[in-house]
Amino acid sequence: MKSITRKHRKAFHPVRHILFIHFLSASIDNFKDFLNIKYHPFGEAPFYCLNPAAVHYKERVLFDLQISICKDTKRPVGTFSCSCGFIFSRRGPDECPEDIFKIGRIKEFGYIWRDKLKQLVHHEKKSWNAAAKELNCDINTVKKYSSKRIFEENQCNQEKVEIVHKRVEWLALMKQYPEYSVTALRRMAPALYMWHYRNNLEWLKSTSPKQMVKNTTSKRVDWSKRDIQMLTDIKKAIIKLKANDRPIFINKSRIGKEIGCLSFIEKHLDKMPRTKEYLEYHVESREEFQIRRIIWACRELNENSQDVKKWKVKRLAGIRENVNKFVLIFMEKEISKYKEGVQNAENKTLAIFERNSEPSMAWECYIEEQSMVHTDWFYM
Ligand SMILES: [Zn+2]
Repeated sequence: MKSITRKHRKAFHPVRHILFIHFLSASIDNFKDFLNIKYHPFGEAPFYCLNPAAVHYKERVLFDLQISICKDTKRPVGTFSCSCGFIFSRRGPDECPEDIFKIGRIKEFGYIWRDKLKQLVHHEKKSWNAAAKELNCDINTVKKYSSKRIFEENQCNQEKVEIVHKRVEWLALMKQYPEYSVTALRRMAPALYMWHYRNNLEWLKSTSPKQMVKNTTSKRVDWSKRDIQMLTDIKKAIIKLKANDRPIFINKSRIGKEIGCLSFIEKHLDKMPRTKEYLEYHVESREEFQIRRIIWACRELNENSQDVKKWKVKRLAGIRENVNKFVLIFMEKEISKYKEGVQNAENKTLAIFERNSEPSMAWECYIEEQSMVHTDWFYM
C-alpha cells in the first residue's frame, strides 16, 4: 500500500495493481477513465468571491487559489485571494455543493470591504449590529475595524491591495495562454513580471508554469513529420540558392540559414534520416563550388565580350594557386573550349547538369565525358 501510493521506485505485480484498483472501489474497465484527471480539492477556477461588500459577491470571479496541507489533519487548505482584496481560507476538500460558500478564516478584508464598513458606520450611522449583519460577520469584527486607529492602519495597507491586483493580472495572463512558459509570459508582460519578481517572488515561483523544458519533453515530437517538412524546405532552399546568378556555396550552414533553422538542423539531424541523407548528398565540397565558379566566370567574361583568359577567370572566380590540381586542370579545359571558339561549350556543360539532378553525379558524368581525369582525382 505504502509504496504503490507513493512515488513509484519499482514495478508492481499486476495482481497488486488489481487489488489496489479494487481497494479504490473501481474496476479494470472504468479505472482508465481516471487517467489524467487532476485532483482539485476545491473544484476548478473560477471560484466564488465571498466578500459581502463586493458587487460580485457570490459570483465566480476568483482565480487565485493557493493550496497547502494542514499540518495537523493533513487535509488541504485553500487560500482564496480575490481582486477586491478579500482573502479567505477554508479547509478542504469540498464535500458537498454548499462547501464552496464556506469561509474558514478571513485573512484580509480588503479595501472594498473596509470602505463599505466606513460608509455603513461613519456615513450612514448604522449600528454595529446592523453593519455586522450586512457584512455577514461578527459584531466584534465590526467594532475592531471601525475604530479610528484601524482605519489609519488601513491606509498603509494599499500595498497589499496592489499585490492582489498584480496577482490577478498575472493569473489572468496565465489563464489566457495556458500553454505558455514563464519566459513567454514574461515577454508578453515584462513590467508585470518584473513587479512580481521584485515584490512577490515566492508567489511568482509557486504559481507560474514550470519551465519550457518540461513542456517540450511532455510533448512528443513527430520526427517523421518534421523530417518530411524539413526535406521539402531544404529542397526549396537549394533550388533558390542555385538560382542565384552569382554562385553561392551550398553547404549545411548556408542552407540552414536560408530556412532559418540552422541550429535545429545541427542539433537534430540524426533524428531526420531523409533530410540527413539528402543534405549529405547535396552539399557542395569546396572543389565542386570552385568548379561552379569557374564555369560561371568563363560565361560571364564571354557574355561581356571579354577574352576568356586564365588570369581573368581566376580573379573573377576567386581561384587561388593552391587549389586542388584537378580544379586547375578543369579550369584549363573550360577556358580552352572558349579559345577553340566552341560556341556551345557552355550549353554542353549545362546539358550534363540538366540530365543529372544530383550535383555530384553531374560532376562525375561531366568529368567522364570530358575524358580528362579519373573521378578519383577529384578526391585527392
Ligand atoms: Zn471579490
